[in-house]
Amino acid sequence: MADSIPMIPGPQVVPSAICVRCEVCCRFPEHDSLLRPYFTASEIQQALTHGVPPSSFPDHRGSQVEVVPHPTDEGFLCPAFDPATHHCRIYEVRPLDCQLYPFALMWNEQHDIVLFGWDPLCPFLLEQSLEVTPLKGEKLRRSIRELPRTLMDQARTVATYLESEDVLSTLAIHPRLVTPFQPDVVVLQRLDRLTVTLQSSGTGDTR
Ligand code: SF4
Repeated sequence: MADSIPMIPGPQVVPSAICVRCEVCCRFPEHDSLLRPYFTASEIQQALTHGVPPSSFPDHRGSQVEVVPHPTDEGFLCPAFDPATHHCRIYEVRPLDCQLYPFALMWNEQHDIVLFGWDPLCPFLLEQSLEVTPLKGEKLRRSIRELPRTLMDQARTVATYLESEDVLSTLAIHPRLVTPFQPDVVVLQRLDRLTVTLQSSGTGDTR
């Protein structure tokens, strides 16, 4: 399929044993939460094959998943999430959007540069990060937290993957994978190739 892409290389950023004890991912405060995962057409087909209902996707060419009310608590869940075990039922075929987290792909505030960063809402990354004093003139960095070297190496690998040819062409078809600006995300770098790809394909304005 045109938008089928390889999995992000390398190990999962947050160890699974920590992920399953966490209360953040895969749960959403509102039915229309901005951060519901986006699935490409081929990712939707994979999810359907693995038991996610077709009604979970309003547009089978690519869409954010429709979340469902939490059966025993407040808020909403991704329909692929099992609240009893805290596992993703489609983990092996989870979409790029989910593989990427707790890294984040977003537009800057002016919506003219794509940025790559990490989400301090992830308790693991927040705990791993160190407080630092920003250097004078570091305009992109909005936080004073920095990741340790091993996580920075992983971040660089993911950023390189995101600007590989296969992924760039998929992102041009599915520009919604780049979210609007999120003020809390800690910016690591600009993605200039991706910015140019989205702008030159006319898919840059996804607001
Ligand atoms: S697809 Fe899996 S990893 Fe992604 S939000 Fe749903 S349950 Fe979580």
